[in-house]
Amino acid sequence: MANWQDEYWQECISIAADDCGLLLTTAQLDCLASSVRGGHENYGMASGDDVASSNLSAYRDREKEDLLKAVRREKAKVTCRECNGHGRITMQAGPWTSNSECSKCRGEGRHDP
Ligand SMILES: [Zn+2]
Repeated sequence: MANWQDEYWQECISIAADDCGLLLTTAQLDCLASSVRGGHENYGMASGDDVASSNLSAYRDREKEDLLKAVRREKAKVTCRECNGHGRITMQAGPWTSNSECSKCRGEGRHDP
């Protein structure tokens, strides 16, 4: 008994045969369907899609790993004591005020422990 894939390809070949006026025996239909099925199964290898898909998957894994590393690092950061997490340091000297970026956290207000 044919499985659903064999039946699918037999149906495709049967429709194509009808469209172009071909009369096929059951054995010829099975043979053509089997051949097309084999071609379909090897399409990714023949076209290079299998390799491209594999490379893309490896790229996405690396990208995901990098993002997880960045998230872990960001979560581990501590609030900067130099600027109390503001990222800027304001100092008053007589009539003058200085407002500068915190050198400890580079203006982010948080830094690696
Ligand atoms: Zn700071």
